[in-house]
Amino acid sequence: MNILILGSGGREHALAWKIAASPLVDKLYCAPGNAGIAREAECIDLDAADHKAVIAFAKERKIDLVVVGPEAPLCAGIVDDLEAAGIKAFGPTKWAARLEGSKGFTKDLCKAHNIPTAAYRRFKGAEAAKEYVRQKGEPIVVKADGLAAGKGVVVADSVDEAEDAIDMMFGGGLGQPAWEIVIEECLIGEEASFFALCDGETAIALASAQDHKRAFDGDKGPNTGGMGAYSPAPIMTPQMEKRVMDEIVKPTVAALAKAGAPYKGVLFVGLMITAQGPQLIEFNVRFGDPECQVLMLRLMSDLVPALIAARDGQLKNFDLRWYGDAALTVVMASKGYPGAYGKGSLIEGLDAAAQVEGVEIFHAGTKADGERILANGGRVLNVCARGKTVAEAQARAYRAVDRIDWPQGFCRRDIGWRAVERET
Ligand code: AMP
Repeated sequence: MNILILGSGGREHALAWKIAASPLVDKLYCAPGNAGIAREAECIDLDAADHKAVIAFAKERKIDLVVVGPEAPLCAGIVDDLEAAGIKAFGPTKWAARLEGSKGFTKDLCKAHNIPTAAYRRFKGAEAAKEYVRQKGEPIVVKADGLAAGKGVVVADSVDEAEDAIDMMFGGGLGQPAWEIVIEECLIGEEASFFALCDGETAIALASAQDHKRAFDGDKGPNTGGMGAYSPAPIMTPQMEKRVMDEIVKPTVAALAKAGAPYKGVLFVGLMITAQGPQLIEFNVRFGDPECQVLMLRLMSDLVPALIAARDGQLKNFDLRWYGDAALTVVMASKGYPGAYGKGSLIEGLDAAAQVEGVEIFHAGTKADGERILANGGRVLNVCARGKTVAEAQARAYRAVDRIDWPQGFCRRDIGWRAVERET
């Protein structure tokens, strides 16, 4: 088979690494890719937003499956366009991708099907929203509808803070004025992520993970795209996973099938595990980054037949095997991230770091300059490791980090602390 991956981050490097290991693959391409992905796949200078160009490339190179990494092309309908052109694609259609693209859509779907999630109301204007906030009291959560790359959510500890967030979102503080906001109850508990593979009708469990969103140790500092992750999440016991499948994933897949927009692809379930059980915080319609990296390290089975079975509606009797080990990833970022940062600094020691037992290094924002690897983004490297425990995976990952010579980079030193504490 010839496979094309769309994307350029650590998630896509992990997918490329896993897909390249499949005996089913003849030729693997990635557009646009990065310096690490170039070791697994031929990187192609193609813009995923240009659907015509992607289709033309896929036809010319006889691509049998397109695997879409990020959410933006999915929400823009790349899967619909590829399939209409006769090219198989892994991921949800534009309509089904609204599970991530529209918070209002998802909340209404949950309400209609008794899927556990925070109580909420949708608002198109600031005054009514503020009145609701005053009536409900603090703490309360304010969310802008639409894709906001993680910036559209304010967990407000006071009514004043919530009112400011409402003004900010309707006033264009997120780039453009929000057309709608959702105000919801603040859930109390421990967060975890869970991933399922869906074929439109059937969903099978993948695995759980937990990530660290804040930039600095102790979960302090500004929010980022994710500074590290580990899998499995200790709070996701087999019983809890079953509840998430039965109470959230299966009813969602059934609801979308019934509505005529079957969900195919990876369903990323953002959860709050409360005293009453799992509550949905949000859905994403693709693998998480950096969660995908730890999932791929733990997956024993070939990923390619699973992606094809999801696309073809054949997951019913499908089974995936996993290593019992834990996996953990430490993100190395450019100093200054998530604010302004420089590009082009030299990264050395990667080969020595990759020698550490159980370690795999995935590139996120890198560029090759001959044999040299240069930083080319905010999140730059994912230093990942497997281990018998999260503590062992953590120790191995940091041993590798310490072999990397990159003065312009930084990372957190405490990824996995919650799980390690639990283990000891
Ligand atoms: P979201 O973009 O919806 O995942 O929200 C981003 C983050 O805000 C989540 O990872 C949670 O930490 C927090 N959050 C969102 N909704 C709630 C809620 N209803 N209660 C408590 N925290 C929330």
